[in-house]
Parts: sequence; C-alpha cells; structure tokens
Amino acid sequence: MCTAPNACESPVPHLPRLTPVLLISALLAALIVTGVYQMGLRAGLDRLERSGEIAVQQAGDRITAQLESYKELANFLARHPRVMSQLDGRSDMVGVSEFLLRSTLIAGARSITVLDEGGRVLASSTLEDDPGFIGRALGQRDDVVAARTGRLGVYHSAERDGARGYYFTRSVLGPDSRPIGFVTVKVNVDQLEYEWRIDENVVTFFDAYGVAFVSNRLELALSFDPDLKRQEIVGSAPYPPESLTPFPEHLFERAGGRTIWAFDGGGVMPERALVVSRTLPLVEMTTRAFMDIAPAVGEARLQALLTAALLAAFGLGLLAFWQSRQRIADQLRIEAEANAVLEARVARRNAQLQQVQDDLVQASKLTALGHMSAEISHELNQPLSAIQNYAENAKKLIARDRAPDAKDNLSLISEQTERMGRIITNLRGFARKETEPLEDVDVGEVLRASLGLADQRARAEDVTLSLSLPDAPVFVEAGAVRLQQVVVNLLSNAMDAMEGQERREITVSLAQQTGQAVITVEDTGPGLADPTRAFEPFYTTKDVGASNGLGLGLSISYGIVGSFGGTLAVENPENGGARFTIALPLLDRQEAAE
Ligand code: ADP
Repeated sequence: MCTAPNACESPVPHLPRLTPVLLISALLAALIVTGVYQMGLRAGLDRLERSGEIAVQQAGDRITAQLESYKELANFLARHPRVMSQLDGRSDMVGVSEFLLRSTLIAGARSITVLDEGGRVLASSTLEDDPGFIGRALGQRDDVVAARTGRLGVYHSAERDGARGYYFTRSVLGPDSRPIGFVTVKVNVDQLEYEWRIDENVVTFFDAYGVAFVSNRLELALSFDPDLKRQEIVGSAPYPPESLTPFPEHLFERAGGRTIWAFDGGGVMPERALVVSRTLPLVEMTTRAFMDIAPAVGEARLQALLTAALLAAFGLGLLAFWQSRQRIADQLRIEAEANAVLEARVARRNAQLQQVQDDLVQASKLTALGHMSAEISHELNQPLSAIQNYAENAKKLIARDRAPDAKDNLSLISEQTERMGRIITNLRGFARKETEPLEDVDVGEVLRASLGLADQRARAEDVTLSLSLPDAPVFVEAGAVRLQQVVVNLLSNAMDAMEGQERREITVSLAQQTGQAVITVEDTGPGLADPTRAFEPFYTTKDVGASNGLGLGLSISYGIVGSFGGTLAVENPENGGARFTIALPLLDRQEAAE
C-alpha cells in the first residue's frame, strides 16, 4: 500500500482539471464568436456601402435626367420668337402669358416666367391665378444674377404651404448678343419625387444650407440638420420659416469600424443607418443615402450564432470525450489501487504462510525427533537389558568356574555393544545440521545407513526390507544426512501404508541410468490415493497430530532432492503398491569413468 506521498507513482495518467480548461475554452469561444461577428459586420457594411453608392448614383442620375428636360425647355424658350418678340415690345403680355401657360402644361412644369432686362416679371403662365405677379422684381434672385452672366441660372425655394420649386433661368439675347431679358422655368419638386418614393432606402438631397430639399420620403422635405441653428437657416435660406421642420434626432455610433447614424426609432428613418454621401454638381446639392444596417447586423449575428453553435457542438463532443477518458482513468486508478491492496494482502498472507510452514517444519522435525528418540531408546533398551542378562550370566558362570561359557556371554555383550554403537552413529548423523555443505556422497552407503535406522521398526512390524546395490559404488554430490532423511522418510511412509496388510515388503534399489543415480523405494502397500498431490505441503491422508501425519514429509523431501539438482517422483505401479524414484546427477568424474 502507498501510505507516504510519492511513495509509489500511480500508473494511471492524471487528466487536467476540468474547470480551468472549461473557462479557457469558453473565453476562446467568446473571442472567436466576437471576431466572427465583427468580421461579418464589417463585410456586411462594406456591401451595404457599395449598395448605398449605387443608390446615391441612381438617385442622382434620376433627378438629373428629370431636370434635364426643364433645363432644355429654358434654353429652348430663351430663343423662341414669341418670347423674343415680347421682349422687343412687339407682343402683348396676355398673349405671351397664354403661350407660356400652354408650354407649361405640355412640359409638365410648375410655371414659366419672362423677365425684362432688369429682372422684372413681364409675362407668366400664372397670370390667371396670380395677376399680381406681373411686375414683381426678381433681378436679385440667384438664378437671374447667374443668367445675366450668360450661365444657366439655378435656384430653389419653397412656398408658405411647403410646395418646393426648382428654377432654371436662361438669358434671352438681343441682336447684339446682349441679354434683353430672361426666361425662368419652375419645376414642381413634389411631382419629381412622386415617381420615386417607393425606394426602400431613404435618399435625400441636402442643399448648401443643410436643408433636405429633395427626398424620397415626403416627411423629410424641408427638414434641416438639427446641428444647424434654425435662426441661421431662416435668415439665409429662401424658405418661409413655418415650412421648415427639424431633421429626425440622431446620435453617432461606431460599428464595424464605421460611423453609424442612430435614430430614435419610429418614423421614416431606419433605427441605425450607414450614410453614403455624394455631391451632385448639377443641382448643387449633397445626396445622402441612409442605408438600414439591420440586415447586415442580422447576417453577422447569424454567422456568429452559427459559429457559436458549431463551437458548442465541438465543445460538447470534446467534453463527452474528456468525460469518457476521465471515467476510464478513474476506473484504472481504482483498479490500480485495488490491485495494490490485493498485492499487499497476498504478500502479507504469503509471509504468514511461510511462517506457518517454517513452524510446521520445525514441529515436524520435533515430532520426528520424538518418534525416533522413543524408537531409539527402545532400540537401545533391548541390547542394554540383553547386556545386563549376559553380564549376570557371565558373573554366575565365572563363579561356577565355567569360564568358557562366560566367554560366550562376553562375546554376546560385545555384539550388543557394537549394535548400540551403530544405532548411535546413525542417530548422530541424522541429528547433524541440515545446512551441511554438498559433498561427494556414496549413495549405497547412505541407503545402507537409512535401512539400518528403519530396521528396528521393520522387525517390530514384520516388514521385509531388501536392498539391491550395484557392484561399484555410485557417487553423487549431495548432503549425506539430508539424503538419508529423505530415504528414511520414504521407508517410514511405506511402513505406515502397509500397516495391517498381509504382505509387507519394501524393496530399495540403486542403479545408474543416463548420467543419473536412480534410487527406487517400492512397497507392497495400497499405493497412493492421489499421486498428483503427494508432494503438496500439508497433503496427508493420516490423522493430523503430533505423532501422525503432517503432510510435510514428502514436500520437504522433494525440496531436499531438488536442492541436490535431482528429482523425486512417485507412481502406483500396475502390479500394486507405491514406487518412489529419486534421480540424482552423477558426479562428473564418475560419468567420465562410465
Ligand atoms: P505424512 O506422512 O505426514 O502424511 P507425507 O508428505 O510424507 O506426509 O505423505 C503424504 C501422503 O502421501 C500420506 O499421507 C499418504 O497418503 C501418501 N503416501 C506417502 N507415501 C505413501 C506410500 N508408500 N504408500 C501410500 N501412500 C503414501
């Protein structure tokens, strides 16, 4: 388990935290959307400006074309004999006025007037409606002043009722090419406008005074720029004060890098307009087209909205992907933690098992020792009591002077002592430390010693022990005591298995086979209940107890043989019983000798 920080690195990569990423993404998205809106608006206003230029151009062309015919009419009448005759004093005023009225009606003009050299009205198409007009002095009017110099005179003004008139004045030249009078054609501006009021864009012609003189919106006619003072206009412009109205209130704003006129709303003006201006020399006015920017704004908004929707969809996709990655990462982290906990638990359990196994090995050794010491004391007791008997007998025989018989008894005592010595030698060998170094071991010798140890129990239980050895000694590299321990264990197991059986035989044999020393221990018992489990630690079919099975003997033996580089195997032969086979590598020099 990782308890200290950084004690162990998690194998699962950590994903960045969501909130800052979301914030930065939202900021970026807002920037992109704003950028798209601004660019869209700029492009829209560019297009609108081009449309405005076309609208201004068309309106200028239209009014120019419309006025052109009246200009020509003024030129034509300035050379007309009726007009010239009147100025020569050869014609009557009423007759010329009628001629002028007819011309007015044919041309669709408002009125036509003939002035004398000084600018006084001589005849007019309005004679019938306004006889008082005859004799009016107009010599100071701008158009008359201009015509006097030989140019085409232009002038515009309004009546009290707001009716607007546009004037063209041409001088009438006498025989010496000097002006003898003037012809003025007045055009009805309302009538001109009538034809083009349906235009969706507001187009207005402002005169030099800042007054909207011509417009395709009747409401704007004679409105004056609110920045100009009414008094200034009234004082200088040729309009009756009561005919003037203020131009709709507006502020200036910036949008898409341009100045926008923002109107209060309502009325004829669009709420927000891009203004395109152009001066029109013929009429000496400035044309202004008020282009409604609402469609351009709407289009830019739509583009921004679409971009926002795309970004949102992309963002949601990313979020879903991120969340799935996060889930997987969380899952992996949980699994990694669970694995770490499990591994720690397994390691703890293994340590505990190792401890238990060590304890059990120790217990089994003690058990075996107890077992053996009981057997050995029994084994030693027998010769001891025999020795005692023989000694008693010898004493008695010597007392009776039967020395030769006493000698026999002494020989028997000597035999028994030898036997006891053998037992003790084996015991000492068995008790020697397990971690003895490997040495050259004579396998036959070990087998003989092992059988010697088992001999006492075999005789007690009526078990026939037989040993078959090759003629030549067989050497392996092993620990003699531990190898003996293995063989004794196999013999002891065989005797256990044959308890209560009719036939009780154990055959131990040694042979050399393909570089190996092969020891077999066969018995005539019932065979193994489950040979595949025989070497499992703690596998036993015996009652578990201090003197019975622990299930460790074979597993320890297996380990011991393995530590010599050999193998221990078991099988149940077809003809019955159990057969254990120990195979150990022969010593190199012995192999060479083979
Ligand atoms: P233990 O002798 O304490 O049971 P072992 O590891 O020495 O432990 O033996 C394990 C088991 O193998 C025995 O309980 C027994 O069932 C079986 N076994 C061992 N040797 C023989 C044999 N010669 N014949 C039949 N079964 C045997």
